Amino acid sequence: MVDCARHPNIILHTYSQVQTVSGEAGAFRVRVRKHARYVDEDLCTGCGESAQKCPRRVPDDFNMGLSQRRAIYLYFPQALPMVMTIDPEHCTYLTQGKCGLCQKVCQAEAIDFDQQDQELELEVGAIVVATGYDFFDPSSIGQYHYHHYPNVITALEYERLISASGPTGGHLRRPSDGEPVRTIGFVQCTGSRHVRHNRYCSTVCCVHSTKEAVLAWEQDQQAHSYVFYTDLRGSGKGFREYMNRAAQQFNVTYVHGRVAQILEDDAHNPIIKYEDALNVRPQRMTVDLAVLATSLVPRHDAPQLAGVLGIKLDEFGFTRTDPFSPADTSRPGILACGCCLGPSDIPQSVAQASAAAARAAEITLG
Ligand code: SF4
Ligand code: SF4
Repeated sequence: MVDCARHPNIILHTYSQVQTVSGEAGAFRVRVRKHARYVDEDLCTGCGESAQKCPRRVPDDFNMGLSQRRAIYLYFPQALPMVMTIDPEHCTYLTQGKCGLCQKVCQAEAIDFDQQDQELELEVGAIVVATGYDFFDPSSIGQYHYHHYPNVITALEYERLISASGPTGGHLRRPSDGEPVRTIGFVQCTGSRHVRHNRYCSTVCCVHSTKEAVLAWEQDQQAHSYVFYTDLRGSGKGFREYMNRAAQQFNVTYVHGRVAQILEDDAHNPIIKYEDALNVRPQRMTVDLAVLATSLVPRHDAPQLAGVLGIKLDEFGFTRTDPFSPADTSRPGILACGCCLGPSDIPQSVAQASAAAARAAEITLG
């Protein structure tokens, strides 16, 4: 990301949204709205002094609501550009004309409450869509009791809990009581490979859960993880070997069985009910923490963006591309890569990005 921000031939338009696209391959005109940050990007040093003084606290989206941020904030510690943004919905100066503390403490005089959204017109030869994905909301699977039981969390919430820059400083603690976590149940295919939710495989979750389980062991060698799976799909290079190593060296047990229901006992320990596929009988296991490996789904605003770009989506809502030229969307000159095409892992996304860049060069250089 830093290389990208520093590259002399790359201009980053952050906090910006494409409004309209006209023209054709080789000569597109793109109208972009750059949202007001109420902070001057050229003056802000990202020191964070203003956020420390801001009295307004709101759930921190980046930490999945597990911690709070201020109304003036940096989206995440490595954000580029490293400048603060004022959240217009929660800043009491912008909503009620009261406060203004950040302006008083900012030594760089970067706060600008009069800043307005800007309209930009860009001329480009090709466009690459790389908008990524959203996660499936597991609340719609009532029998897993996500949101009702404090120790049933999603894989992304787990990721934030075990991250050094996360809300617990990287110490894996139970949300209900802050106690260390010793047994973890990973519930695979939450929302994937299911006729009622998403029929497709989300591709990355078997290996992702394995990585999370290994991280738990690295933090505490008493930790034991159980991965409840439909069938294990680590299809990338070296992935199967990684899973074998996890089982042999890092206290990871793979349990062949789909989870039917999660209950909890009086101490908020999740009780995982599953079908033991080998012995064909129902089983249950009590764990300290249940982690739902949720499906990767199209972004909520994919239809709107498809309308703006004039491109087609597939039956699931991911961007449709030509099977014989897999970076090309249905509109010539508009290319796509990564998870906006469907779930893909990092090596696959990188290969797709290289293909899209090569096609963009072909289109623009002729
Ligand atoms: Fe520091 Fe001012 Fe930027 Fe806040 S706005 S991070 S106080 S320079
Ligand atoms: Fe926070 Fe808004 Fe007050 Fe600044 S003016 S300190 S952003 S509430």
